[in-house]
Amino acid sequence: MAQRCFALIPAAGAGARAGAPSPKQYVPLNGEAMLVHTIRAFIRSPAIAAVRVVLSADDTWGSSADAASIRAEAGTRLGFVQAGGASRARSVANGLEALAAEAAADDWVLVHDAARPCITPAMIGGLIDTLADDPVGGLLAWPVPDTLKRADASGRVEATIAREGLWLAQTPQMFRIGLLRAAYAAAPGVTDEAGAVEALGHAPRLCLGSARNLKVTYPADFELATAYLRLAD
Ligand code: C5P
Repeated sequence: MAQRCFALIPAAGAGARAGAPSPKQYVPLNGEAMLVHTIRAFIRSPAIAAVRVVLSADDTWGSSADAASIRAEAGTRLGFVQAGGASRARSVANGLEALAAEAAADDWVLVHDAARPCITPAMIGGLIDTLADDPVGGLLAWPVPDTLKRADASGRVEATIAREGLWLAQTPQMFRIGLLRAAYAAAPGVTDEAGAVEALGHAPRLCLGSARNLKVTYPADFELATAYLRLAD
């Protein structure tokens, strides 16, 4: 593929639902911060030219001792953008603007949540191979395995929702940088990249992800992520 692939990792959230004392991306899993595991999967992906991590403006983690090992492993392929915003969308949009200074509009960007540390180089490589010639781009996703219920205000079932055709959106979400910048400029309130691209009238491709690629959100997820990280890729 002629275009380069960049990874953009938004890591400027507070992670309030996780109930941890520090932002969840810094909670140690198997002795290393969650964010280190996330970055490493991309650094170990040969198709990724560079990894850019979006941190809050006043976050010094990138120069901390905690980050030293991954900085040594990554060398110049790893950089930090001190431009987190009030929402994930704002952090990603700010990161894309910084990336535009070093990347071409038709280069690819893989946006991946810091809170999905169990992603593997094999999943990243598979996504890139699948989408290399795609006119739009796409995302890892997982078919909804359970029956879905809509709750009423009292916590009782109001309706059962057919799960056929429903997928859980994961990350990475891979689009051309020019298209994604335009999409975020037009739809700044979205909760993922695909949503912004859909709002422009495109149909991103769903690529089979994995249950392993969970987003650490609730307290119990830390143990699950730790267990996955102990397994071979
Ligand atoms: O909170 P949630 O898990 O949905 O966040 C998804 C990702 O977006 C996390 O990696 C988080 O650090 C990031 N984020 C961000 N800036 C925000 C909110 C979330 O970079 N303002």
